[in-house]
Amino acid sequence: MKKNMHIETKVIHLGGDADPVTGSIMPAIHQTSTYVQKSPGKHQGYEYTRSHNPTRTRLEECLAGLENAKYCLTTASGMSCITLIIQSIPKGRKILCGDDVYGGTNRLLSKVFGDHYETNFIDTTDLKAVEKGLKEDRPYLLWLETPTNPMLKISDIKKISKLCKKYKALLVVDNTFMSPIFQRPMDLGADIVVHSLTKYINGHSDVVGGAMMMNSKKIYDELWFLQNSIGPSQSPFDSWLVLRGVKTLAIRMKAHEENAIKVAKFLSKHKSVEKVIYPGLKNHPHHSLAKKQMSGFGGMISFYIKGGLKESRKFLQKIKVFKLAESLGGVESLANHPAIMTHASVPLKMRKELGISDNLVRLSVGIENIEDILSDLDNAL
Ligand SMILES: *Cc1c(COP(=O)(O)O)cnc(C)c1O
Repeated sequence: MKKNMHIETKVIHLGGDADPVTGSIMPAIHQTSTYVQKSPGKHQGYEYTRSHNPTRTRLEECLAGLENAKYCLTTASGMSCITLIIQSIPKGRKILCGDDVYGGTNRLLSKVFGDHYETNFIDTTDLKAVEKGLKEDRPYLLWLETPTNPMLKISDIKKISKLCKKYKALLVVDNTFMSPIFQRPMDLGADIVVHSLTKYINGHSDVVGGAMMMNSKKIYDELWFLQNSIGPSQSPFDSWLVLRGVKTLAIRMKAHEENAIKVAKFLSKHKSVEKVIYPGLKNHPHHSLAKKQMSGFGGMISFYIKGGLKESRKFLQKIKVFKLAESLGGVESLANHPAIMTHASVPLKMRKELGISDNLVRLSVGIENIEDILSDLDNAL
């Protein structure tokens, strides 16, 4: 498989050579915990499934290729990937983190690792604040999400990676919202890219999983050691499901975006909507950076409904095509109330500063027919 193929081809073929024994065009599910050895220590590269599994290897080859990285590790959830990366930080070193990251990441850094590592949350769209944080804290790593969740703020990966190199901090980018179809942080200087496979990459809301990609053999070895020692490795069956789901990633992302642009425009004109946040709209504060850094604007939209909790509750109870649920990135449209649902674990003061108020609604626009999506929104509003 040539490395210079287009990504629409890669999603279908990477990690997918036909089985040399049977010719099976689809990968086998190696649903096994262990592997027979010819004599002690003489095996075919596989000893135990917590350490390695052939189905998982195929998925990791595929995902590494999609992010233009050399290595990939997949785990049982996005959070377990994030946990392994935090576990790799030497004692006493600090963390610099974006102030508008996934609620679970904020909770992990504050409430689980808070006693072990000091985390400083900063606005990563502000390069001066980034440099100040790097200079003062000398952190081991900078944790970046762009676009952020749920405010969809965009940070300049290339410029931040240069600053990180200057101050010898690792740059980790959570690329869940864009997927490798629309944004490739390794090409912009990131050291590690993280994904919740649960979202766009699997895309069918039937797997929870995580992946991390890197070019450094040293970082890969360190994280594999932790994965093998701690044990959150992705299961063979879930690896297989993601290998199946990822084949349509390119066409799905394009369909998500096409619908999201129409939804953003529709909501912008609606009398019951106060404000729409979507990087593809010209009035988005980071629209030009989004256009430069990403090759698409994605399927996530946040908007403020006119009114307060009562109005957003009413809207969320009336939607029919959109389902009220946490998560995002599946083929079906989902709506979420960040303040009560996904971001409830973010401290109230921080939520207020960020703008996560009671009238904020987040949409994961699915790939259903756009007319059904728009009439559902219109009806509920
Ligand atoms: C969902 C999500 C995670 C966590 O992944 P899980 O698979 O739910 O553990 C991390 N980052 C982002 C941006 C997410 O949306």
